[in-house]
Amino acid sequence: MARTVLIVGAGPGGLGAAMLLAKAGVRVTVVEQRERIGGRTSAIEGGGYRFDVGPTFFMYPRVLEEIFAATGHDLHREVEMVKLDPQYRITFGAGGDLLCTPDLEQMERAVAALAPADAGALRRFMTDNREKLARFRPCMENPFLSWRDVVTPRILRLLPFLAPWRSLNDELGRYFSDPRVRLAFSFQSKYLGMSPYRCPSLFSILSFIEYEYGVYHPIGGCNAITAAMARVARRLGVEFRLNEPVEELRLEGGRAVGIRTASGETRADAVIVNADFADFMTRHVPASARHRWTDAKIARSKYSCSTFMLYLGIEGCCDLPHHSIYISRDYPRNLEEIEKRHVLSADPSFYVQNACVTDPSLAPPGHSTLYVLVPVSHMHPNIDWSCERDRFRALAISKLAQLGITNLESRIRFEKITTPADWESQGPIYRGATFNLAHNLGQMLHLRPRNRFEDIPGTYLVGGGTHPGSGLPVIFESSRITSRLVLEDLGISSASLAPRSQDT
Ligand SMILES: Cc1cc2nc3c(=O)[nH]c(=O)nc-3n(C[C@H](O)[C@H](O)[C@H](O)COP(=O)(O)OP(=O)(O)OC[C@H]3O[C@@H](n4cnc5c(N)ncnc54)[C@H](O)[C@@H]3O)c2cc1C
Repeated sequence: MARTVLIVGAGPGGLGAAMLLAKAGVRVTVVEQRERIGGRTSAIEGGGYRFDVGPTFFMYPRVLEEIFAATGHDLHREVEMVKLDPQYRITFGAGGDLLCTPDLEQMERAVAALAPADAGALRRFMTDNREKLARFRPCMENPFLSWRDVVTPRILRLLPFLAPWRSLNDELGRYFSDPRVRLAFSFQSKYLGMSPYRCPSLFSILSFIEYEYGVYHPIGGCNAITAAMARVARRLGVEFRLNEPVEELRLEGGRAVGIRTASGETRADAVIVNADFADFMTRHVPASARHRWTDAKIARSKYSCSTFMLYLGIEGCCDLPHHSIYISRDYPRNLEEIEKRHVLSADPSFYVQNACVTDPSLAPPGHSTLYVLVPVSHMHPNIDWSCERDRFRALAISKLAQLGITNLESRIRFEKITTPADWESQGPIYRGATFNLAHNLGQMLHLRPRNRFEDIPGTYLVGGGTHPGSGLPVIFESSRITSRLVLEDLGISSASLAPRSQDT
């Protein structure tokens, strides 16, 4: 008889695991609380406009290509993707801007125009990070199930490349003298919800990946990717139960044996949790069953920032590239307000996606969509969003003028706001920390909640809350790592899930 696996949550991590396990012959059921699949990578639709809820940058498609290939599918036949050039424009509150392109010669000229002394360092940055990524890839592709997996000769040899004692900003200082150029290659730490001044230097690979492999827009948005994953999963026989919140992880003798929802109990050989780790553990898993990830440890863990979101459907278009980033005039202060002081900034950094310049399918003819993301503190008593929501919306709209967007109010035909309080209650996401547990060294590798969940036999984790971390490429890698562990534990071969040769 086929072995059975239940997956709690239909986010990208859960969908990747569903595809791989179903292909290996496991009977997979995905139980999702919402009426639609995709989680933070789903769509918002209204008034003829379509927005991504969360991810808008799709990078490093390699992992997902391999997952589709392992199930006998071709990602690029399922989802049309456009490689963006320019990738984005950065406007510095401190003055100047940079139109970032994957064409390195052109990028060198753009850097030279902003900071002549720094242009020559771009190639060295790329060469060094190419080697760093090649060496680090095995760490991203394999589980870290105990400290013994960390203290291996291979990992120890990595230390000089990872330089864990150095911050990302200091790492960039080894290449670029102008603080704005450093920011252009380090603001990507915000993809992890972290400040470049605190984020480990390892994450210089994020900007490298953008320039080396490109930034993609999937036609229809990143939600087209999760839709394609669900389509393939269904073809492979995966059952989806939507609109069905999991209320409890069922345990017997300390082992997970299934789940309980309003419609009753379902048993399985293994349960994979894709729901937000800290939220699910604290609300749906008995505290007495968790010896390492106790409520107290979860409460004192470090969490990423949150985001204030504006999804605007507007009449007409905006003269903006696909992605634009505004970096606060005093960026260290802006980050301190987000991460340490937990107050709202008067001059916040923000990001705007003007996707219709690439993909007019997202709005009615003659209209366009604007997706505005402002990084803010995760939920904290200092900020009461029921009072701040409207004021902050007005601030965000006025700040768009920094990118040349004026006269917006009269053109808005659709509007949706999401605050950290909404992420917390509707995600549901612990403290509204949209990018999960922070990626500081104390919460990475074996110190992050493990793919084979260390507290409860029969339970596995997938998604941004486990190893390797938050961000789509590594979330897909977590699908692969976790699926391999589940198959091994069920006595099923996982050979077809091995990553492609590591030196290509
Ligand atoms: C605003 C924003 C922007 C982002 N931008 C990018 C980007 O540009 N590029 C990038 O790579 N990454 C980005 N990310 C990060 C990350 O890629 C996404 O958040 C991603 O969707 C996380 O995937 P996940 O697999 O961890 O699960 P999630 O997407 O969080 O999905 C988890 C699922 O579990 C369900 N669930 C929760 N509780 C229960 C329950 N009790 N019972 C049943 N189901 C439950 C939820 O409804 C949800 O569907 C962004 C995130 C956000 C929020």
